[in-house]
Amino acid sequence: MTMANAFGAADFARLSEEEQAMIARRERVLGPAYRLFYERPVHFVRGEGVWLYDSHGQAYLDAYNNVASVGHGNPKVLDAISRQAATLNTHTRYLHDGILTYAESLTATCPAELSQAMFTCTGSEANDLAVRIARSYTGGTGIIVTSHAYHGVTSTVAEFSPSLGPSVDLGVHVRTVAAANPNLPADAIEADFAQGVEAAIADLKRHGLKPAMLIVDTIFSSDGVIAEPPGFLKSAVAAIREAGGIFVADEVQPGFGRTGDAMWGFLRHGIVPDLVTIGKPMGNGYPMAGLIARPEIIADFGRNARYFNTFGGNPVAAAAGQAVLDVISEQGLIANARTVGTYLREKLAEYVNRSPLIASVRGAGLFIGMDIVEDGKPSAQAAARIVNGLRERHVLISASGPQANVLKIRPPLVFSRANADTFIDALHAALADMS
Ligand code: PMP
Repeated sequence: MTMANAFGAADFARLSEEEQAMIARRERVLGPAYRLFYERPVHFVRGEGVWLYDSHGQAYLDAYNNVASVGHGNPKVLDAISRQAATLNTHTRYLHDGILTYAESLTATCPAELSQAMFTCTGSEANDLAVRIARSYTGGTGIIVTSHAYHGVTSTVAEFSPSLGPSVDLGVHVRTVAAANPNLPADAIEADFAQGVEAAIADLKRHGLKPAMLIVDTIFSSDGVIAEPPGFLKSAVAAIREAGGIFVADEVQPGFGRTGDAMWGFLRHGIVPDLVTIGKPMGNGYPMAGLIARPEIIADFGRNARYFNTFGGNPVAAAAGQAVLDVISEQGLIANARTVGTYLREKLAEYVNRSPLIASVRGAGLFIGMDIVEDGKPSAQAAARIVNGLRERHVLISASGPQANVLKIRPPLVFSRANADTFIDALHAALADMS
């Protein structure tokens, strides 16, 4: 047994025999590229609402998984998927009402300019398609991303996902800019971020590369969760357009109501992107993703390159997506993300004074980032201890950010105030253990 995945011998020895055997099987059959969460991995067999249940029937509070955003095992989504799967599941080259109704519902959540939708199975594919469209529309190749961005796994998209680390080369046509700096005064953040984008544009041009697109995760998830102040993306968007490129909002993380103020993260910035890429919670676990576009941006691409995706946008995907939109609206989940998110953020902010480990709390709606420090410096180690401490108390989160010291709290949107209290109690106990 190699224990190739991030386990030390001591951690491995703490696992049950069953867990050790499953890890060995994973390594044998899935190979070395996969990673497990937590020093003591969890083996889930069932989910319901905000709860995941392990193989011993123990419940864990899910404060991490944004895919099951309308709740694990949501009955309305399950019903829609199973009815449609039992009726018809083909592809997008036949007439079918489901995809049309869904595309109409989806584009209706956007400003009028964003009126057309195309479907894929993953966010990576959506961003890959965005690159092809951006290149076709602008005639350029240059791509600007934030310095710790993640946009996906295809070879094209991995080339502009610097958070994959130094072993994954960036493309020669890719420039990185520092993410918006949350430590600057609020009125300086917009100009500072835009200056970075302008410098990247200038550098592309100096190397003979025409800019094609600026792509930004509008809540900067992997850059450490940066949501404030709303509107700070405006000047950067103006700069890329001025240079002949387009602006792509990657809404895979903030989209579908997570930020608590609107359906989409870009709306809180008061901008209308040229393309919007979406995924993750779109089918509540059914693999679906895609993009929403201004028609003029995809017109040439559509004429010159036909588009087909075997599974993307099939009738079952459309049914899943429609059910997700319906549940978000019927259950008022955007407002829930706002009220519960604000409540949780306020409770967490009390720990900035109470614990020397917690330097700040940021976020919007139910996407919260907390900076963890030791002796005033970012500490990935302390963040990992909190993440694992919470896991031992059956609460799930993770850490991210360029220095892996930002706790990422991103529960399903059906998270309640009582769930937030449970979370705070567990955090309190985990911190007490560390002091
Ligand atoms: N963009 C962002 C911002 C993401 O967080 C992710 C996934 N973590 C992706 C794109 C890629 O999505 P997928 O894993 O569905 O390919």
